[in-house]
Amino acid sequence: MIYVNKKSADSFFVKNFEKNGTNFKFVDENTDFIENSKNNIYITPENNTFVHRCPATEIYRCCNYYVVDMMEGCPFDCTYCILQEYLNHRFIKVFSDTKKVKEEILALAKKGKYRLGTGELSDSLAYDHILNLTDFFIPIVNKLENIQFEFKTKSANITKLFNHNPKNILISWSLNPEEIIKTEEYYTAGLSERIEAAGKCADYGYKVCFHFDPLIYYKNFEKGYSDLLRRLFDRIPEDSVEYISISTFRFMPNLLETVRNRFEHSTLLQSSYVKSLDGKMRYFKTLRTYMLRFITSKIKSEWQNVFIYYCMEHESIWKKLLGYDPGERKEFEKNFPFFHQNGQL
Ligand code: SF4
Repeated sequence: MIYVNKKSADSFFVKNFEKNGTNFKFVDENTDFIENSKNNIYITPENNTFVHRCPATEIYRCCNYYVVDMMEGCPFDCTYCILQEYLNHRFIKVFSDTKKVKEEILALAKKGKYRLGTGELSDSLAYDHILNLTDFFIPIVNKLENIQFEFKTKSANITKLFNHNPKNILISWSLNPEEIIKTEEYYTAGLSERIEAAGKCADYGYKVCFHFDPLIYYKNFEKGYSDLLRRLFDRIPEDSVEYISISTFRFMPNLLETVRNRFEHSTLLQSSYVKSLDGKMRYFKTLRTYMLRFITSKIKSEWQNVFIYYCMEHESIWKKLLGYDPGERKEFEKNFPFFHQNGQL
């Protein structure tokens, strides 16, 4: 069910619901009666700082990505999802103040070149057929030469993207082998559907990205990820790929207890972890290095020119596997293709 706070009656969302015949119900401030379920959406006029830098620590290399958080909560249910710990609600909260969101994006564009995207506290496209957020963001970003905007998803909900101009827009998919999708990524699109959706976006002219994040170790790790990559190489042309990120599963210590309680058959419970310098649990460094090396070399054997980066990894691993240290934030981001366009640096 979609609930709309009465103060959001004039919002972009309500106009679309009325135009498209989408059912919704107006409510007052009190949200106590909304069943705390991933099937419910709540449109709220609450204020927020929407655009901000992706949170990171100094210890690991961070790519200076910016996020715009207009949505909190996700219809999917991944075992490893940090939202289980981070949010105090399961329903999907959507902020209706599109005017402020637009102002914050324009203000960021005035400061310089930035990579920006949704998908930090939700899936960018899972509910796009209902919320129409691509209709809101894409026309704004098409006009901003300083912004490259990424929609990050585990869905195949791409229909609305074909009404738009792909200029300055990236569509990205998080990928895992089919058996990991089945045990760890509930209600998401299957691997074939994700790859086919990426292929269609690439055919249309969007640049696409792939996130091997979180990379999960399990007994068929080598075969599972090799098969996945084979299917990806067969469908996606290398020159449609803007970049690829790789990062192994990491989490705040409390998460494992939640996984034990909610998903007793999760693959995540079969591995050992060690506390790392930022307080998060990770696989042992030797295993992490093995996993990153395996995926990196498989990708490079087929796609030699795609920019690959590691999200929140130690500089020693960068040097060992990629032969250089990308540096911190501003320095790191200069490695992205967006910062080389038109010969600019
Ligand atoms: S798709 Fe992302 S936000 Fe949604 S449940 Fe999975 S990890 Fe969480």
